[in-house]
Amino acid sequence: MSYTGPDFEPSQPRRSPLRRALTVAVAALVPGALLGWGVYAAVGGPGEGDGGGSGRAGGAGTPAAPSSGAPASGAPASSPGDGDGKKPAGSSPAPTSKAPSASGPALPASGPLTGKVVVIDPGHNPANFQHASEINRKVNVGTHWKECDTTGTATNAGWPEAKFTLDVAHRLRTLLQEQGATVKLTQDGDRSFGPCVDERARIGNEAKADAAISIHADGSGAGNRGFHVIMPGSVHDGAADTRAIVAPSAELGERVAGAFVRVTGTAPSNYLGDGTGLVTRTDLGGLNLSTVPKVFIECGNMRDRTDAALLTSGSWRQKAAQGMSEGIVSFLRG
Ligand code: ZN
Repeated sequence: MSYTGPDFEPSQPRRSPLRRALTVAVAALVPGALLGWGVYAAVGGPGEGDGGGSGRAGGAGTPAAPSSGAPASGAPASSPGDGDGKKPAGSSPAPTSKAPSASGPALPASGPLTGKVVVIDPGHNPANFQHASEINRKVNVGTHWKECDTTGTATNAGWPEAKFTLDVAHRLRTLLQEQGATVKLTQDGDRSFGPCVDERARIGNEAKADAAISIHADGSGAGNRGFHVIMPGSVHDGAADTRAIVAPSAELGERVAGAFVRVTGTAPSNYLGDGTGLVTRTDLGGLNLSTVPKVFIECGNMRDRTDAALLTSGSWRQKAAQGMSEGIVSFLRG
């Protein structure tokens, strides 16, 4: 499979003929980009949220670095999931393997978010690649049918997005619990695959979340850098009805984006959102089926070596979580 999966659907916003032309140009580059892509592409590509319009603009003229499996210089070959790939073990705030226990059986804290419920959706699942048939099953997202879930992307060195998202989710959970919030994850590495995108939305709905955030990193062309927050557009079709959450989700998105810039010092996407770091989409099941204020955040582009150096850094991931937390706290405090 290739990028021409759920990520390049025609229903996604395309602003101009120029972008369409760039899409074609970028598509021509994909075979090179896919060398070394390995099992991730074989099972479904980056998936919901990722690559949405990414690679359409800005990628032209900056060919995706062909990778034959050799680690990119910006991405450590060893597993950055064990901490900051650039520093000795133990120097990063919370290595992946310890992050869950860091939040562990935390006593209910009192704080500004006491009584508030936040659902964190770590995009994809580290084991999705072992369950191709299950995650390729189509689910109805109101406007159309799409894959249950996808594998997500990876750095050129092979570190999966699904490990990134879970690590950041753990860090964010800890920060929000410290503010008194009740936090629920849609998956915690405790399922053999998924959940499907419709279930990811349903978990937030059933929790009556005051805010929900789906964490991702993008899989775009080299040279495409920066983060963007995806907000739901107005959809009223089948089981999808976002009309009541468009405004609060936009506010949530703006606050998260603002805090993310301030805390991480990372610039908004240079390839989507016209420099705002904000993008509206109507094709994502995780947003279309949500009845609670919800946004996605694409924290950076895993396929760009400069962004990958940030994404694989434990200390940067802590800042990313801090930025999301401050945005959510700001939103919930009003
Ligand atoms: Zn993703």
